[in-house]
Amino acid sequence: MRKSGFCSVCLVFLGSTGGAIAQPVVTDFRSPVSPVDQSGANKNGYYDANLFLQLTSGRGYHSGEDWNGNKKGKGSTDYGDPVYPTAVGKVVKIFDPPLTQKHSWGKTVIVVHILPDGRKFFSLYAHLSKIDVKNGQIVYPNKPLGNIGDANGYYAGAAHLHFEMRWVNDWTPTSPGYYKTLTVANALKYLDPTLFLDDRATKVSMKLQAEKLFVGSAEGIQIPDYTPAVLSYVTCQGKTKSLFSAVMAGGIDPSFSTEEGPTSKWDIDLTGTIVFGPDIDFQIKSSQDCLFTIVVPGNNFQSSRARGDMIEAASHTSFSRVKLETLADLGVDSSSAFDLRSLCFDNGPNTAVACIIHATEIGNPLSRWILWYEPLTDEYIGDWVQRDLNDMD
Ligand SMILES: [Zn+2]
Repeated sequence: MRKSGFCSVCLVFLGSTGGAIAQPVVTDFRSPVSPVDQSGANKNGYYDANLFLQLTSGRGYHSGEDWNGNKKGKGSTDYGDPVYPTAVGKVVKIFDPPLTQKHSWGKTVIVVHILPDGRKFFSLYAHLSKIDVKNGQIVYPNKPLGNIGDANGYYAGAAHLHFEMRWVNDWTPTSPGYYKTLTVANALKYLDPTLFLDDRATKVSMKLQAEKLFVGSAEGIQIPDYTPAVLSYVTCQGKTKSLFSAVMAGGIDPSFSTEEGPTSKWDIDLTGTIVFGPDIDFQIKSSQDCLFTIVVPGNNFQSSRARGDMIEAASHTSFSRVKLETLADLGVDSSSAFDLRSLCFDNGPNTAVACIIHATEIGNPLSRWILWYEPLTDEYIGDWVQRDLNDMD
């Protein structure tokens, strides 16, 4: 895994020297509409009218989010509002059915994005009234790629943006936006957009001078205790590299210490994961002038991690379908030391449902466990599994 991750980074940089248009690595994320205001208080804001994996009667499980203007009661008041790429990327598909065709995707754009660790993900923007980009074009999060629409009238009077984030470029025009039955394999293809974006909410940057030791502390850069930086990257002379590739190339020498001396509390592994513990001081030395940037998770970090863990565990324990439409809180006592969530799975029609419970230790979100049980008999059918601190994606 580590080796292939490294090579995919190599390919990104090799690719940028060839004839094709160089595609910048993602360094910032944003919502495709803004401002986001789920409460509806801000009439100029947008709310998610149909959540990711929500079950809609007659349609199925929603593979994305439906972003709608807050001026409720006027279904298409957001028609024509700008839609932004969620991050820098390259357009890989334009779907533009004739205006006479009330296709339920409507005008649609798919963009591929490259993360600092070399992985790719895809974002999809559907039902647009207008497309302002071309296939192969590099798009930036500050410039709209199109406008909110109603899918050539298919959603007349209810214009909205259907937005998806996926690990695969899987164009499925026969069943736009919904799965009648949600399989674990399909769930693994998707990202929960809001959780994913909030998971990477804040960015902290430090300037590193060549060969000069940078000394800092987690408090000094206002990073909360036990925060993992899942997307750290380093910019040196205008080129962005993941922390992993920069360390491997010998361009950066991170060393970490606390008041008690060298520690593993602030831990860096070869995939570039950094974990901040309390009272952590750190030192970084770079061979050239660099901007060292850490993307730190937002408030939904634990939900995002829980959903990913549970769907992954379901695939390992060979469940085939996601049974419930969404992640459900168990409503535990807030004085509990754990944050508990559950998601249920089965193996097809006429089989028992099993639910997976995810427990995250509050105050240490990297320490997390899963177990699965049969709700009718309340019997445990799988063991607790503790996830390793470094077992991060
Ligand atoms: Zn939708």
